[in-house]
Amino acid sequence: MDNAATTQKPIQVIEAVRNFYAHSNSNVHRGVYGLAEEATELYEGARETVAHFIGAEPNGVVFVRGATEAINLVAYAFGFKKLRRGHKILTTEMEHHSNLVPWQMLESKGIKLEFLRIRGSGELSLDEFQEKLDDSVKLVAVTQTSNVLGTINPVKEMAELAHDNGSLILVDGAQSVPHMAINAEKLDVDFLAFSGHKMLGPMGIGCLYAKPERLQEMDPFQGGGEMINTVSLRHSTWADPPAKFEAGTPNAEGAVGLAAAVEYLERLGMENVRSHEEKLVDYALKRMQEIGVEAYGPSDTKKRGGVVSFNVGGVHAHDVATILDSKAIAVRAGHHCAQPIMRWLSVPATARASFYVYNTLEEVDRLIAGLEDVKSVFGRMEVKKNKRNLSRKHSLPL
Ligand code: PMP
Repeated sequence: MDNAATTQKPIQVIEAVRNFYAHSNSNVHRGVYGLAEEATELYEGARETVAHFIGAEPNGVVFVRGATEAINLVAYAFGFKKLRRGHKILTTEMEHHSNLVPWQMLESKGIKLEFLRIRGSGELSLDEFQEKLDDSVKLVAVTQTSNVLGTINPVKEMAELAHDNGSLILVDGAQSVPHMAINAEKLDVDFLAFSGHKMLGPMGIGCLYAKPERLQEMDPFQGGGEMINTVSLRHSTWADPPAKFEAGTPNAEGAVGLAAAVEYLERLGMENVRSHEEKLVDYALKRMQEIGVEAYGPSDTKKRGGVVSFNVGGVHAHDVATILDSKAIAVRAGHHCAQPIMRWLSVPATARASFYVYNTLEEVDRLIAGLEDVKSVFGRMEVKKNKRNLSRKHSLPL
């Protein structure tokens, strides 16, 4: 139940990676011999598969290491080139550090960060968004699904408002693209970042989707092989996107594995993936309420993804996770790379169960049974502690 961190890999994905190395291994976009062409076709075919999955054209899909690298690419290639002193980036309090720290790095250029507050049970306010969208906001950076609260943000409405204001919008899709049907062109976002390993694919591969005109106007992020058109000793010209942003030997087997993961998800149907997770989250929230475990985030499962963060009374989340681990239940505990959310919740950490296609209602029952054990273990310790305090009191000299 730690799928927000990374997912397990179906045999089809493992086989796709193995077959690439066993039968098709060559560098891509370089050799003119048959094997090199086969590797290139597999790599570019993977781009087409991923593009189709997110409702985009292949030339809008840049292969990167993951969501983190995709956002850093935009921070450097767009932020450093296009933004100036006094320009603002409007982001939110509920971002993963990956969609916060890269923007903080631009502050050295005099670019300011502004934040939408988290409200209610963990939502953003479109009214506040409109109030804060002033002329100096050049970029909005927002997560589509919070990796802690599970909140699904209204990014389509936000994209429309941002564009009306003349601002661009980047959406962190790390926790949404794996879990629901997404159409980047219909959402009309300028940038969409996501990671393959959170959607049954390999680690070290992910995507930056960008509108083709955005990729045209940005300078490269890294220089090197295959991202150029011509090179002389003092001057180079760039290849067309997406190659312009893919310097050096790419993670070709990762792309091929990601395409296999996408095909697997398409066979399942993203509507089915979404409704399966809704069922699990709905059940988990109900059962947690029954046993008095505090779960965070919106109570309406239609407004949240497959993530449930929680705390069990005053027990530290690491202790909760350790007891659950002794029952072979893997949940994450900590700040989930979203320390500002911990501050908003006024807790040092939470435990988090995050579901995916292979989790079951029976497993949720096991989680709940595990949480009841946590309560009884710590309940007993509480009693013991009280007894100790009592005996110490009695041993004090009168
Ligand atoms: N954004 C969100 C919302 C995430 O949950 C994560 C991963 N935990 C990331 C970005 C970063 O993804 P990666 O580590 O795969 O680059």
